[in-house]
Amino acid sequence: MSIIRKIFLLLFPVMIAADAEGQDSYAGQRKAMLDDIVTLTRETRFETGRATLSERVMAAMAKVPRHRFVLPGEERYAYANRPLPIGHGQTISQPFIVALMTDLLDLKPGDKVLEVGTGCGYQAAVLGELAREVYTIEIVDPLAKEAAVRLAALGYRKVTVRSGDGYVGWPEQAPFDAIMVTAGAPEVPPALVQQLKPGGRLVIPVGPQWSGQSLLVIEKDAGGKTTTRNVLAVRFVPLTRDKQ
Ligand code: SAH
Repeated sequence: MSIIRKIFLLLFPVMIAADAEGQDSYAGQRKAMLDDIVTLTRETRFETGRATLSERVMAAMAKVPRHRFVLPGEERYAYANRPLPIGHGQTISQPFIVALMTDLLDLKPGDKVLEVGTGCGYQAAVLGELAREVYTIEIVDPLAKEAAVRLAALGYRKVTVRSGDGYVGWPEQAPFDAIMVTAGAPEVPPALVQQLKPGGRLVIPVGPQWSGQSLLVIEKDAGGKTTTRNVLAVRFVPLTRDKQ
């Protein structure tokens, strides 16, 4: 037996043990993250109209390994309730906002969903736990490519990533049961409302770039009429039309 093979065989059980331990410590942090989400949901219930989030959404938040989506070296902050940098001047939203926005979509297992603003792919993975198909668009090409690789490596086969401008939606895949925008838009993009099915929901932060936005839920009824509800004051990176 070669010396390299011997070293490998000796090291292998140690590597497995370290990985199992790493997963366990993240499981503990994920549990603490869920507790934070429960608390913040209760605290914002008068604004959002939701005192608790659905069990399905909480189960998805408990499952997705958020530490695999953050920049190398930032893993220890992955489960803190705050936004984190993901490169290219963009950020991953705080876990509470991800959970709330997901809950507001009221997803059913058969739903077809569009996300605008893939970023690192974390929100898309959460949606992938809850819907039949997820289509997600990112305007920063390297972010789109990295997210696609990451999601495939984690086994999210129902999630399809595309590089492009999500302001115009994804006409080839429309209509959608639900659409989520994870960047602050100056106004509601008309194409996204058009690409919603009757009975569909659009969750989107809208408002001026620097003073923060209002998180809106727009519902389309069976006759195609829309109603808009303002849920919460939020602050997102801007929805831009410029491809990087
Ligand atoms: N949902 C992401 C975080 C989004 S940050 C996650 O889970 O990581 C907002 C993202 O929207 C950024 O990556 C930004 O590049 C992207 N974005 C901004 N304008 C866009 C547009 N017009 N179309 C698609 N993506 C856009």
